[in-house]
Amino acid sequence: MKKGRTPIIAGNWKMNTTPTVAVELAKAVVEKTAGVKGVIRVVCPPFVSVHAVRQAVAGSGILIGAQNVHSKDSGAFTGEVSAPMLDGLVEFAIVGHSERRKIFGETDADVAAKAKAVAARRIRAVLCVGESLEIRESGRAEQAVRAQLKASLEGFDAWGYLAVAYEPVWAIGTGKAATPEQAGDMAGAIRQELKSIAGREPVDGFAILYGGSVTGENAGPFVDRPDIDGALVGGASLKADDFAKIVQVTASIAASAK
Ligand code: PEP
Repeated sequence: MKKGRTPIIAGNWKMNTTPTVAVELAKAVVEKTAGVKGVIRVVCPPFVSVHAVRQAVAGSGILIGAQNVHSKDSGAFTGEVSAPMLDGLVEFAIVGHSERRKIFGETDADVAAKAKAVAARRIRAVLCVGESLEIRESGRAEQAVRAQLKASLEGFDAWGYLAVAYEPVWAIGTGKAATPEQAGDMAGAIRQELKSIAGREPVDGFAILYGGSVTGENAGPFVDRPDIDGALVGGASLKADDFAKIVQVTASIAASAK
């Protein structure tokens, strides 16, 4: 975390919580993170709960994210949700999560189209990239992530509407987080790659998050790395206490950042 950047802590609730439970969780997050300054708090509930959660967090400063989006504005795509439908309901949208890439077969080109679609609606894309265990063990992680990032940003130019989450696939939901060094080094490489793709550094800087088994206990050393500006949190975001702890730790690191 470098001085001048506002950290983002985003909770990806995935396919968990009924609308009733989602509202309860959102209210608990409001209560337990009230008064914490200098951190952008984001919750990403399932689509069916977005509206209710938005109402539950109204006035708290907490922002809402979508977990996915379709790249087309409308049409015969049964079951899908488009960026215009999310306009006014969410401020962020996760695109290219590894579960979408792996389970639902999303390609880099699909992800690039989604990132463009949300940014066109002034929704900030949280673009996920990350290598598999096999690639990490082969020593090609940085090369693979740089290539994935470039391909997932093909034709993208709305740099103010982008955050990148480095999420090594082997660290997601496994309880086996990357080390802060691994995550910090990759975030540095991502920042360099972004500068070369964008051709300049945007005034506000790029937000780069780490994701993969982040908890209240281990979050600090990640956010303390100069190139990591927050976290994308899965499992721990379903527990308001744990999520609040991540927000609090991040706030105190940001407050003393140089
Ligand atoms: C995620 O799904 O984006 C994630 C980081 O999950 P977890 O925190 O559970 O590893």
